[in-house]
Amino acid sequence: MLRTGDVLQAWGKILRGERPTLSIEITRECPLRCPGCYAYDDEHLGGGVTLRELHDRRGQELIDGVLEIVDRYKPLHLSLVGGDPLVRYRELELLMPALVARGVFVQVVTSAFRPIPEAWADMDRLNVVVSIDGLQPEHDARRAPATYPRILNNISGQNVTVHCTVTGQMMKRCGYLREFLEFWTGRPEVARVWFSLFTPQVGDVLPEILTAEERRRAVEEMLLLRREFPKLEMPEEMIVQFRTPPASPEDCIFARTTETLSADLKTRITPCQFGGNPDCGACGCAASMGLAAIGAYRLGGVIPVGAIFRASVKIGQWRNGKGGGRPAPPVTAELRVLQ
Ligand code: SF4
Ligand code: SF4
Repeated sequence: MLRTGDVLQAWGKILRGERPTLSIEITRECPLRCPGCYAYDDEHLGGGVTLRELHDRRGQELIDGVLEIVDRYKPLHLSLVGGDPLVRYRELELLMPALVARGVFVQVVTSAFRPIPEAWADMDRLNVVVSIDGLQPEHDARRAPATYPRILNNISGQNVTVHCTVTGQMMKRCGYLREFLEFWTGRPEVARVWFSLFTPQVGDVLPEILTAEERRRAVEEMLLLRREFPKLEMPEEMIVQFRTPPASPEDCIFARTTETLSADLKTRITPCQFGGNPDCGACGCAASMGLAAIGAYRLGGVIPVGAIFRASVKIGQWRNGKGGGRPAPPVTAELRVLQ
């Protein structure tokens, strides 16, 4: 749930031309080989070099590198992804207390191929997100060695978020999302469940891509299921955004407020965490929809937050010297009402 203080802090950073959220691929390694994985796509880093070819860090060099970046960017929210970040669990065990002590909200996204460190179970400001791609037969086929039995063992005693990327294959079977929720929301280790929809690159032809009808049905089902399964922590305002994803990265609040770095801790991933040339019109990223829902919210029932956001980004860019020598943008009507 968004807190007013966090929103104001994030807004302040945008006005200063900074990005309030940071995502770091802390390792190039992953023991899994999931079909459709965007991180290992040849175009993920823009062509030329791939994630597997980057020089990544380990040990103290990785710990120091991540802390240096966090101290430089001062994000409010930090996502640690990979590869699989738990490949570097020893470094993460040392990093985590230092990160949360800085007041950053940290999210670790993993396949749970190995046990989640015990100390993380009740750590404040930490969210461990476990990616689970469907029911056991499909998941185990796609994501071995992080199979259902292994995940259940590795999250024991924890407090995790389950994240499932819904694919075209899942939507071809009636009641799939309900069965998934019945299994995972019944587990005491699972605090909440989030769904994303598979996001292709422009020009992809893959069985994972949802047809327009499957996408429509996924949205309808999520809207109904969230009432029945309170652990499906996705507000209605967010779910309906899947119907009209941002037209381009410029229209995507998530992409414009998140800095994403790869495993050498230098290479920027653009335009968003998917890298390459993502098909925004078919985007199914839950984070993007969450921020789009905030953008659609109308302050005082009149002014969309998105309009204030766009005006703030312009001001931030101008202050940061990215205004291309243009004069300062005028204080728009949207910002004037907030003065
Ligand atoms: S676990 Fe994640 S990073 Fe590893 S192959 Fe699967 S999707 Fe890619
Ligand atoms: S998160 Fe989705 S909408 Fe935003 S830039 Fe990436 S693909 Fe496009």
